[in-house]
Amino acid sequence: MRKRKRRRQPEKARVIRLELCDLCGATFPEDDVVRRHVPDSSSVSRHNDWFDGLRLVTACGPDHLDVLWEIYRRRPYTQEELWAAKITRALTHGPPVLSVEELGCRTGLHEPEIRRAIAWHNRHRESRATP
Ligand SMILES: [Zn+2]
Repeated sequence: MRKRKRRRQPEKARVIRLELCDLCGATFPEDDVVRRHVPDSSSVSRHNDWFDGLRLVTACGPDHLDVLWEIYRRRPYTQEELWAAKITRALTHGPPVLSVEELGCRTGLHEPEIRRAIAWHNRHRESRATP
């Protein structure tokens, strides 16, 4: 029996995925990416509430990652802002929330925290609207 020669598969072109630096906006190959979680009370995770209050930043190198860390380190971390972000997540994803109790169950917040978060949100919205 004659052995069949294996046909050589054409070499597939390697796809180079690109990343975008959160500081300078440069694009670069994903193999060169550096990332770090930074504190940010406006950030909640859609997939894992363990990461609520943290933002994953992407940089083109360690120098820009350090600058991003410094920017977020100086940004005020406000508990009410984090609660407001959790409430927004609950109100914009999944089944509709029909009561404060239900909102508490979905966010893990108590009613006084929900009220403080809503007050913070309203104050923040008003201050942004005023020039
Ligand atoms: Zn950069």
